[in-house]
Amino acid sequence: MKITRIEAVPVNVPLSTSMTTSHGLHSTSPYVIVQVHTDDGLVGLGEATVTPRWSGETSHGAVAVIHGLIAPVLKGEDPRRISHLRRQIDSVVRLNPFTKAGVEMALWDIAGKAAGVPVYQLLGGKFRDEMPIRMVVGSIDIPQAVTLARKFLESGVKCLKVKVGLNPDQDVARVRAIRELAGPDIPISVDANCGWTVLQARQTLQRLREFNILFAEQPIATADRSEMAALRRATDVPIMADESAFTSSDIWHLTMERAVDIISVYPGKNGGIQSTVEAVCAAKAAGIPCAMGSNLELGIGTAAMLHLGAALPTIASELYPGDFIGPLYHEADLIKTPLTLGPAAARVPEGPGLGVELDTEQLEKYRDRSGVAQSTGSTTSVTFEG
Ligand SMILES: [Mg+2]
Repeated sequence: MKITRIEAVPVNVPLSTSMTTSHGLHSTSPYVIVQVHTDDGLVGLGEATVTPRWSGETSHGAVAVIHGLIAPVLKGEDPRRISHLRRQIDSVVRLNPFTKAGVEMALWDIAGKAAGVPVYQLLGGKFRDEMPIRMVVGSIDIPQAVTLARKFLESGVKCLKVKVGLNPDQDVARVRAIRELAGPDIPISVDANCGWTVLQARQTLQRLREFNILFAEQPIATADRSEMAALRRATDVPIMADESAFTSSDIWHLTMERAVDIISVYPGKNGGIQSTVEAVCAAKAAGIPCAMGSNLELGIGTAAMLHLGAALPTIASELYPGDFIGPLYHEADLIKTPLTLGPAAARVPEGPGLGVELDTEQLEKYRDRSGVAQSTGSTTSVTFEG
């Protein structure tokens, strides 16, 4: 089997529930849908959930990287040689984890379809049947936050993540209000998205202790590993790394410095399915559990997360419910049959490969027709023709 061409389509999908964090407002997702075509007719699906504020990548930049750099080195190759193709991709472009993940997950999709098995079978088989999830309440004013949390709880949600990091007093008030609403038995985590200073983090985590916080995600900025370690020693609220844990090397440093209790992983941030496995192994070697994070993926990207979450014991969704939630926040998921997500847990799709089918009508509806990606030819997509 050989790769014949790669098609990368930028999309803009509005959120149905917008998200405010310390990084700003997320109201539309400018992502890229990837199709890797082969000479025997199998097509692999991928999704690059690029966000400039997260990794410096943009959808039009991702299309250009896939079209101009990645597709030429993959053309004519067997898509099932994933380790070899990762090496090829890394030889032509550094960094760009979300873009690389969008291509790499499509290779896994093809490998699964060719073998007639779900991707989780290729990752060692299913370890768990379902994965508890947590729904996210943004850094919004308290009446809105309570209304949204009430909606989630009434629908059967069993775990909440509250965004903090913009204003410590409001952060504490928001968590207090949601704890009072939820009662003592609903696990609540907080995510500061790098928003607190070291001093604010130390003081605010102390103030949050009475609300029985499951863990605090990325309380301070990403470069401060030693400060994170000091913060971890100063509090008994478990500390999770997210923005500071992109690569296996990041995780090695974090664990060597005893800076974290939990590490957030997901294929976009880590650069693909196989590199997420490597990241999880780095954490496992240090005895640190992982949790599935998210950049609010659509259907294809969430499916990739579900296969990893189902197969890898160290992604401990039972202890730390995962962010298998992206499609629940968007007005469309771009796949034909919705994934089984929530209210309390998510299930991995059972079809071959990633187990999802692209909805081409939705793809056309949400296709991003603006910008440089569309100015390079007379067609409405940028396609590498092999
Ligand atoms: Mg986070």
